[in-house]
Order: sequence, then C-alpha cells, then structure tokens
Amino acid sequence: MINAVNVNKFFYTPDKLHALRDVSLQIASGEVVVVIGPSGSGKSTFLRCLNRLEYADSGEIYVDGEDILDPKCDINKVRAEVGMVFQSFNLFPHMTVLENVVMAQMTVRKRSRKDAEARGMELLGKVGIAEKHRVYPDQLSGGQQQRVAIARSLAMAPKVMLFDEPTSALDPEMVGEVLDVMQNLAREGMTMAVVTHEMGFAREVADRVVFMDAGQVLEVGTPEHFFTNPQHERTKLFLSQIL
Ligand code: ADP
Ligand code: MG
Repeated sequence: MINAVNVNKFFYTPDKLHALRDVSLQIASGEVVVVIGPSGSGKSTFLRCLNRLEYADSGEIYVDGEDILDPKCDINKVRAEVGMVFQSFNLFPHMTVLENVVMAQMTVRKRSRKDAEARGMELLGKVGIAEKHRVYPDQLSGGQQQRVAIARSLAMAPKVMLFDEPTSALDPEMVGEVLDVMQNLAREGMTMAVVTHEMGFAREVADRVVFMDAGQVLEVGTPEHFFTNPQHERTKLFLSQIL
C-alpha cells in the first residue's frame, strides 16, 4: 500500500537540516506500523511526506501504486485516499460534529447530503459519539474531539490512515478511548502508520515497529523484537527512557 524508497527531506530555515536521510519503509495492505523515536527525529516529517503535506526532495513514494512525487500526480486524489489525524484535532469550530464529518464527503467525494449524513452518522456511531452529532466541537472533551476527527477522516473511505501522536494532547483519562477506536480500526483491516509514545498500543496492535533517530530509520522489527531484544544502542536508550 505504501512504498517509500530512500526518501530525503531538507529544511532550510533557520539552517540547512537533513530531516530525512534515505528513509525506506514498505507498509502492506492491512498492516499496522508504529513509528517511535525521540522528538525531532523526523517522524512527523516522514508521515507528512506520505500525503505530500511535505514534498520529499528525493527518493520515491508510491501509495497504492501511485507515484505521488510525480508532478503529474493528482495530489487531491492521493489525499482523499490517505487520511491523517494529528495531535491537535483541527475540527472546523463553526460546524457541528455531523457537519464536520459530512462536508468533505460532499465536496471531495461528491456524495449527496443524504448519503453523506447517513455515512457520517454511521461513523460517529462507530467511534461512540453519535449522540453528540448536533453539538459544536468546543462542547466536546479532547478525547471526543479526536474521535470525531477520526470519523471525519474515515468518511473519505481512505485506503491508509496516518496518525501523528493522536493522543499526545489528551488528558490521561481520555487516551484509552481514542486508542480503542484505533485498535478496532486495525482489527477491521485498515492499513495504518501510527506515530505514538503509547508503548502498550505498539506492543498490542503493531505488526511492526519502526525506530527513527536523527532522520534515519535505525531499526525495524516486530513488537516482540523491540520490547525483548532491541539491537541498537540508541533504541535501547530510547526504550529505557520511556518505558
Ligand atoms: P518528530 O516528529 O520526530 O518530532 P519532525 O519531523 O517534526 O520530528 O522534525 C524533524 C526535524 O525537522 C526537527 O529538527 C524539526 O525542527 C525540523 N522541522 C520540521 N518541520 C520543519 C519546517 N517546516 N521547517 C524547518 N524545520 C522543520
Ligand atoms: Mg512529530
């Protein structure tokens, strides 16, 4: 589903920074890959390259066979297939919960309002928040807002879901409800890349774990490998700091 080969990304402000160094990662259809690593290691930059929120400077990135670095590639089409959920929920504050989930279905997927609302209610039910469909985002808790953001992303029927620290901005008691929604999605066979510091989630849900440091993928393996027998000194140090 995702095939990234030798991806490099530079930033030039304030200084030249080699943010991704020959990053390669393949994610099979239905696979859940958890990306871990210290702050500033390039995890967000890598995810953002996968739906071209950042344009990689070199390398190749294919999403479901589509070469997304090809200037002729229709990036709006790619973004409709690659859902993304961020640490900050980014709901539209002036729209109700249901309207948040309905809008892009109508504008991007060209669904009728009736179909979009039916699917929206179904997805809000799936993330456990259907009864709140008429309220505005600021009337919801952080955990509820993040679940709406997930439903909004799913409404596009994406082929892949990218999660960038989806629970990092939440109060501790709300982390579980969001991770549960993600775990259910994984069980249903969604292809997922998840940046998180929630090692319980990585252990239970990931098919593979990727450790990034200083813009490089240093180690890739099963959760079993990572939590019992990490090879790299940097991986061991990182895990000892967060476990
Ligand atoms: P992580 O998500 O692992 O914490 P990021 O991908 O956000 O790391 O950042 C990797 C590096 O790239 C960091 O040094 C960060 O400061 C830098 N960086 C990220 N985005 C930008 C940007 N838009 N402009 C300049 N530097 C950036
Ligand atoms: Mg980040």
